Amino acid sequence: MKTPTIEIKGLVKHFPIKMGFFKTLRAKIVPEVHAVDGVSFRVDKGEILGLVGESGCGKTTTGKVLVGLIPPTQGEVFFEGTKLASFSEKELRKLRRKIQIVFQDPYESLDPRMSVFDIVAEPVRIQKVAKNETEVGEMVRNALEEFDLVPPEEYMYRFPHELSGGQRQRVSIARAFILNPDFLVADEPVSMLDASIRSEVLKLLLSMQKKLDTAFLYITHDIALARHMCNRIAVMYLGKIVETGNTDAVILKPLHPYTEALIAAVPVPDPTARRIRVTIKGEVPSAINPPPGCRFNTRCPHAMEICRKKEPPLEEVSNRMVACFLHTKKAKK
Ligand code: SF4
Repeated sequence: MKTPTIEIKGLVKHFPIKMGFFKTLRAKIVPEVHAVDGVSFRVDKGEILGLVGESGCGKTTTGKVLVGLIPPTQGEVFFEGTKLASFSEKELRKLRRKIQIVFQDPYESLDPRMSVFDIVAEPVRIQKVAKNETEVGEMVRNALEEFDLVPPEEYMYRFPHELSGGQRQRVSIARAFILNPDFLVADEPVSMLDASIRSEVLKLLLSMQKKLDTAFLYITHDIALARHMCNRIAVMYLGKIVETGNTDAVILKPLHPYTEALIAAVPVPDPTARRIRVTIKGEVPSAINPPPGCRFNTRCPHAMEICRKKEPPLEEVSNRMVACFLHTKKAKK
């Protein structure tokens, strides 16, 4: 098996809840948000893995840990087979050029005081990859052209507030790709854009990913979009992966009740087409106090006694991994 570009094993990220000074002193245990609880996956060179789930399920936190923006509470991240924890400060600084992230909100992710030129040039300057400012200028011009911000001279001296949402997101993506990253995390990169420009931005993102053969983690709540974009998908619920496998296999024949419900919620263009409706009742439980057993048991239409007591392991079933007693029990027969 080839070495994945990025791999995480048993990733856990908990955030302590901020309380007042006296409350913290009195509290025996400071409550924590269990944002990510034992997640493992790999992304190979040239592959697009979709991380799918409702908001608050831990997708963004996973992405932030992967690009080194926040440290994990537990677990290990490997880049091309080497543990990130074993990298020296200098090596980590170098590595940052190979790992990039595009955020959801192009209005918040760009510094309003910087010109487009300086925003896109920043990683080049920090990493000192250009010989001089003339070369920086050339790289910025090329990056803007790649993402259809043409002619570049028309955009590079503008500030973020002088751009539309679509243009801002193109600037963020140009900045992320300027150093030809080996691994890119895109966190809902088009969800805040008008429907009319979403497909253009996605097309540019996909063609660049293909050109550079980048390993790509695509974070989205939209399972239909994940089908269009991704080779594999991993479905996340309340900090855990519940089903993962080849995109078509998972979407055409979902095994986990939560995946089934996500797919059932996607509108069907043909009103005469029949689809079994699987609805999920209730709200996502609190990540401060996740339910014991299977985390989906409070909303699952198939929940059994065992689901409230034991946590289903993520096991291989029909060419994918599933964490559900409906299938794990069958698999053992
Ligand atoms: Fe539903 Fe039980 Fe499967 Fe969880 S383990 S998804 S509660 S059937």
